[in-house]
Amino acid sequence: MRGKAFAVKQARKVLNQYRSAHKDNFNLGDYRIDPQEIADSLNISVVPHNFSDNISGVFFRKNGKLYLGVNSSQHEHRQRFTIAHEIGHYILHSQETLHYDTHHDTHPSEVSFRADNISSFEETEANHFAAELLMPEDSVQELIESGVTSIQELAEKFDVSKDAMQYRLVNLGYL
Ligand SMILES: [Zn+2]
Repeated sequence: MRGKAFAVKQARKVLNQYRSAHKDNFNLGDYRIDPQEIADSLNISVVPHNFSDNISGVFFRKNGKLYLGVNSSQHEHRQRFTIAHEIGHYILHSQETLHYDTHHDTHPSEVSFRADNISSFEETEANHFAAELLMPEDSVQELIESGVTSIQELAEKFDVSKDAMQYRLVNLGYL
């Protein structure tokens, strides 16, 4: 099984572990996921780096260790998404040794990535993974059913950009 369903399933596994470690926060209505902490738990070192603006993130292995470089000059929301996206590559496409992501600037409303050394199919999988990790479908549904319906408010709950939230809502069929 590959594709969206596979990516979402893998994200939920990671998410479940994170949630059980943060039960109290979730019970208090704190929906924010910290992808940096998830990287730590997977023994991936997150290294902030001042890449040129078109590079969002890299993932690589060196001497048996795992590294994730994130462009520290980009907005915090984008950095969070980049970390989640790169974790997705690690979990879904772990055979890779080096991977780096550049950004499409043509569709600013989509959180989209492109890597020169990987198929767009895999980019899409990594994006589905990241979206489910940061804006889990069940949490989105829960919030909407509890009356939180403005995109801005939802974006704040998940600590993501308004654009990413809007794109997610379209993808889940709410918009
Ligand atoms: Zn990628």
